[in-house]
Amino acid sequence: MAEREHDQILRFVIEGTPIRGQWVALDASWRRCRDKSETDPRALELLGEALAAVTLLAQSLKIDGGRITLQIRGQGPVHLLVAQATRDRSLRGLVRQSGSLPEGESPELDRIFGADRIVITIDQGQGEPHQGIVPLVGRRIGDALQHYFEHSEQLPTRLWLAADAETAVGLLLQRLPGELEDSDAWNRISQLADTVTDEELLALPSRTLLHRLFHEEDLRLFESEPLRFSCGCSRERIGAVIRALGRAEAESILEEQDSIRITCEFCNAQHVFDAVDTAALFDSDTPTPGNETRH
Ligand SMILES: [Zn+2]
Repeated sequence: MAEREHDQILRFVIEGTPIRGQWVALDASWRRCRDKSETDPRALELLGEALAAVTLLAQSLKIDGGRITLQIRGQGPVHLLVAQATRDRSLRGLVRQSGSLPEGESPELDRIFGADRIVITIDQGQGEPHQGIVPLVGRRIGDALQHYFEHSEQLPTRLWLAADAETAVGLLLQRLPGELEDSDAWNRISQLADTVTDEELLALPSRTLLHRLFHEEDLRLFESEPLRFSCGCSRERIGAVIRALGRAEAESILEEQDSIRITCEFCNAQHVFDAVDTAALFDSDTPTPGNETRH
């Protein structure tokens, strides 16, 4: 059997139906995110699943600069999870754990996070970002997202996600608008995909997996495309963070330390602003802090 592709995303359509799909595998890109997160394996799996999901969903954005961020913030043992992917196929993410996970085989997400919702921010790369609130239901990230798609005006969408320490994989099916000539297609193809196991998702090359699930369908596959870890943090953006602190706060930090050092939580890059750099931030006439530069 062929080896499974690494850090690739593959689109496909099911001919004769308005159903399209994507398969994604995150490997080195996933491990870059994982390495910054010291948590139990279960918390890492949740991050991996969230990253696979946002990477798939970001492909439906219209503009290359667009990005999707999934964030869960709570009071539970895992108190923060952030997964972000861009339309141009880069991703970053982190998860933070501060206590022991609830006992039991597969505790529910709201107990793991001590939160009741996921915030999904869709930034199309122009105009105001759109925020969606997803109830944090079920035991896996896919359960909660399923609920979101059933209760929002998004296209009917199904996701199958799996992750372990080495890899994070996702499969997405989406039904495009329009009359179904084959009225049973969406149910039939969703049910076929429902038979997939985590083990198959994690191990099988895309073609083998898709053939195993949909061999009775007329599948058209496109060329797969590479994915990469990319943080996107920059001196400019960190400068905006310092400006948001305000001049008084920034100066009081500088009284205690010779510089303001901010370490990016996503990539560990250290951004250093000394007194001169900091003064320049507040003296310049650049726009208000928080307005990130768009590319
Ligand atoms: Zn960074």
